[in-house]
Amino acid sequence: MRGRFAPSPTGQLHLGNLRTALVSWLHARSLAGEWLVRMEDLDRVTSSTSIAADQLRSLAALGMLPDGAVVNQSERFDRYRTAIATLQANGRVYECFCTRREIREAAQAPHGDLPDGAYPGTCRTIGARQRSALVAAGRAPALRLAADGERFVVHDLIAGDYEGGVDDVVLQRNDGVPAYNLAVVVDDAAQGITHVVRGDDLLSSTPRQRLLQQLLGLPEPAYAHVPLVLAPDGTRLAKRHGAVTLADLAARGIGPQQVLARLGWSLGLCARDDTVTAIELADGFRLDSVPRTPWSLTANEL
Ligand code: GLU
Repeated sequence: MRGRFAPSPTGQLHLGNLRTALVSWLHARSLAGEWLVRMEDLDRVTSSTSIAADQLRSLAALGMLPDGAVVNQSERFDRYRTAIATLQANGRVYECFCTRREIREAAQAPHGDLPDGAYPGTCRTIGARQRSALVAAGRAPALRLAADGERFVVHDLIAGDYEGGVDDVVLQRNDGVPAYNLAVVVDDAAQGITHVVRGDDLLSSTPRQRLLQQLLGLPEPAYAHVPLVLAPDGTRLAKRHGAVTLADLAARGIGPQQVLARLGWSLGLCARDDTVTAIELADGFRLDSVPRTPWSLTANEL
């Protein structure tokens, strides 16, 4: 059994990220498995190595240490390009010249089995002449997956069965940077990940990842999507909501041990003010006892 936590190093980890990391870590520890950390730093403009280091320090402060070297996606573009070449050889890739605005205007409203904002395939039928004109006008293409109406039922270990369709997801951005859904399946396979435990904002991307795994002949890990942490205003917790990172909380006199107990308490594993270590929380931990509803923070907790 091997799990992982795969943050994007674009900001300090907050209580929501830390709680998801903890669930993933507890799951791996409770099964005597391994747990790895991967930095999803594909976008070098928004990612930073000092934030990555800060994220690792936050995990360590709560007792979560990776069982192996941290992998950086920014160093693995060759692997992603090889995977794209495989999909291309199978006729599953097309160029897309649409601008963000065109995509926004053409995007489908949430529709049955396709994820929100699914791309309607405008560029699939582009002719050679139109293509040359776009290239001559300086437009660089993104690469998209040519999906074929595939649908998947993913048996999620927390959320239960989730069924969804696959859209023509981006595989490589028009600046040449490989895209998340492609990189994540390549790396989960390369790192031998058996269980993907992550935030449930990614549940609707799981069918896309299943299809990419099938097309690339990669093993299919098990999935567990952890409900997010919500701020008092009902939106997904973010930095702007107040004291949400370990540094913010420490400045208010709430140390990592207390944060750990709070996270453990939110998962039904201990009392709110217990003195516990992460490994103590792992004893008897089970994914199926993770609350299936979001953890809503109250105003006086921030
Ligand atoms: N990098 C993604 C994030 O920070 C997580 C990707 C994953 O766990 O599959 O939201």
